[in-house]
Amino acid sequence: MNYAAPTQIESIVHALFEPMGTGGVYARTSRFERAIDGLVGLISRYRAPQTEVFKFPPVMSRKQLERSGYLKSFPHLLGCVSCLHGQETEIRALVDGAGASQDWASALSATDLVLAPAACYPLYPIVAARGRLGESGQQFDVTCDCFRHESSYEAGRFQSFRMREYVCIGSPEHVLAFRHDWMERAKEFADVLALPYRIASASDPFFGRAGKLMAVSQVEQELKFELLIPVNSQQNPTACMSFNYHRDHFGTTWGIETAAGNVAHTGCVAFGMDRLALALFATHGIDLQKWPKSAREALSV
Ligand code: AMP
Ligand code: ZN
Repeated sequence: MNYAAPTQIESIVHALFEPMGTGGVYARTSRFERAIDGLVGLISRYRAPQTEVFKFPPVMSRKQLERSGYLKSFPHLLGCVSCLHGQETEIRALVDGAGASQDWASALSATDLVLAPAACYPLYPIVAARGRLGESGQQFDVTCDCFRHESSYEAGRFQSFRMREYVCIGSPEHVLAFRHDWMERAKEFADVLALPYRIASASDPFFGRAGKLMAVSQVEQELKFELLIPVNSQQNPTACMSFNYHRDHFGTTWGIETAAGNVAHTGCVAFGMDRLALALFATHGIDLQKWPKSAREALSV
C-alpha cells in the first residue's frame, strides 16, 4: 500500500480549489468533487438496513440549537443568520449608505435561524415528536452543509464543509455497540482507501476555561474518538471522522424514550467529507488515475 507522507499540501489545495475571497471558503473543482462523489457512494454502501435517511438544509432553528446546549459549549463557533429588519425607508437608507460612512452590517439583527454546526442536531426533535422508539432503537443517515467560525484556516479547516453522519438512538447498549462496530468498520474503510490513520480518544473544542474541564471529563469518559489522518503533517494529523457517545444528553433534552420507556441514549459517527477527500489527495496525489487500485475501485474513480 502507498502510505506516502502528505507533501506540498499548499500546491494540492491550489490544484483542488479556487479561493472565494475569504478564509476557509472555497470553490471546489470537479476533480475534488469526483472524490467526494466516490466517498458518498462508498459510505452509503455501509448503511445498515432500515436506516432512515435525511438531508438537512444548511440552516436550522436557532431555538432548537439553543435548547441542545450548543451555545453554552461552543458559542465561539456558531454562525447566526442575520437580516435587515424594519420599514422599507429604513432599510433603503441603510443600504444606500453602504460602502460610505454608514455600515449596514451593524444594523443587522438575528433571525430565528442559525447555520447548522453539525448534521445530527435537527434529528433529535424529529425523533422525539414520533413517540417511543422501537425495540431495537433506530439508525439514521443524515447529511448537512455545516458552518463553524474557526479561528484559523490551515488546509482542511474550512468555515463551510460537508458532514455526513450515521446516528444511533436507543438503549446505552445499542449505542455503545453501534459506536464500537463503527470504530472497527472505519479501519476497514481507511484500509480500502489506503489512507494512513490512527484512532485516538479526543475532546470537542469547548469554549473558555470551564470548557477545558469539560474536555478533560469527555476524554476521561471516552465519549469521543477520532480517526486521524496526516494532511498537513505527520505530527498533527487531521480529524477526518469522529465517533461520539452523547449518553442521555439529547434523550433528556428532547424527551426521547426507548420502547421500555427509559430515556434514550444517542451516538453518532461523523464523516468530514471535505477532509476525507483532501486526505485522499494529500496521501495519493492529485492524479486520481495514480491512486491505489483498492481506493479507485472503492470510489469508482
Ligand atoms: P465533530 O463534530 O467536531 O466531531 O466533527 C465531525 C467531523 O467533521 C470531524 O471529524 C471533521 O472531519 C469534520 N470537521 C469538523 N470541523 C471541520 C472544519 N472546520 N472543516 C472541515 N471539516 C471539519
Ligand atoms: Zn452528531
